[in-house]
Amino acid sequence: MLGFWLLVVVAVAGWVVGLPRRWLLAALTLAWAVIELAHLSGMGGVFGGSARGWLVAGGLVGLVLAYRAGLRWLRSRATPAEQTTPAPAPVADAELDRYARHLVLREIGGPGQMRLRNVRVLVIGAGGLGAPVCLYLAAAGVGRITVADDDTVSLSNLQRQVIFRSDQQGRIKAEAAAEAMRALNPLIEVTALARRVTEADADLIAQHDLVLDGTDSFAGRQGINRACVAAQVPLIAGSIAQWEGQVTLYDPARGGPCLSCLFPTAPAPGLAPPCAEAGVVGPLPGVVGSLMALEAIKHLTGAGQGLRGRMMIFDGLYGESRMIGTVRRADCPVCGSALEGGATAP
Ligand SMILES: [Zn+2]
Repeated sequence: MLGFWLLVVVAVAGWVVGLPRRWLLAALTLAWAVIELAHLSGMGGVFGGSARGWLVAGGLVGLVLAYRAGLRWLRSRATPAEQTTPAPAPVADAELDRYARHLVLREIGGPGQMRLRNVRVLVIGAGGLGAPVCLYLAAAGVGRITVADDDTVSLSNLQRQVIFRSDQQGRIKAEAAAEAMRALNPLIEVTALARRVTEADADLIAQHDLVLDGTDSFAGRQGINRACVAAQVPLIAGSIAQWEGQVTLYDPARGGPCLSCLFPTAPAPGLAPPCAEAGVVGPLPGVVGSLMALEAIKHLTGAGQGLRGRMMIFDGLYGESRMIGTVRRADCPVCGSALEGGATAP
């Protein structure tokens, strides 16, 4: 029994004099070793117990201490790793800060940001709608973006096409837009296509996961719709005039209508004049183009409810927006024949 009290006295004395933890442990170990050695040499009777008893007790205490030390070591190794990689997905360090506000969104997070990085998106038209579409998709980290436009920057564009600057007048829009996107986010790959995208471009479109159309001629939009239907690539289309705009997702391959389901014939001459004739308020393409970019990010990450089978109409003059349902027409001349029987469009 004396051995037990010896250890208690050592522990209390060490605690009273404020001995550091490791020195206290060393003193207790020394006292225990003296008791054990005394038993082994046949002189341990005075301490009580037996050599085996003290050995087992010391071994058990040693095991507990070793287990706790092991836990502390593991924690010390895990803590700095957690601090440097808060996102579980394999997003590179340079991207963690840039996309931090996406990474904390439950609907996007690491997996959604990885999907954005791995997709190819085609933006047709680097005008009023294309400007916010290009800037927001580039900023959001959409990995590969092709921007197509055959026009050049003119003075009258600058009232709303905020991706361009005054000193870029005369530059090819696709190239000037690509330059702005690369400057905004050097981590993405941008391709400038200084030409019109037409019905004959189904192959080009098939190389992309999503198309955003911000062009303003009905004939041109019909051609792009036909090519997207043929390539079975979803199309986010926006259009604007004066104070009003609309945005929707055409995706007949996965349900929902195509452009021709809703607008089978061109509007009567004079009924839907282009912006150059009818005018457009500067921030309107900013609103509608930003909605297109938002719908693109939702579509690409699977977040929320997209605009397949719905069209959002925004009235800037009265500050109102409304949603209308859209349906696919079985007898649609574009998606009706193209999707049935697996045939492709002409
Ligand atoms: Zn259709």
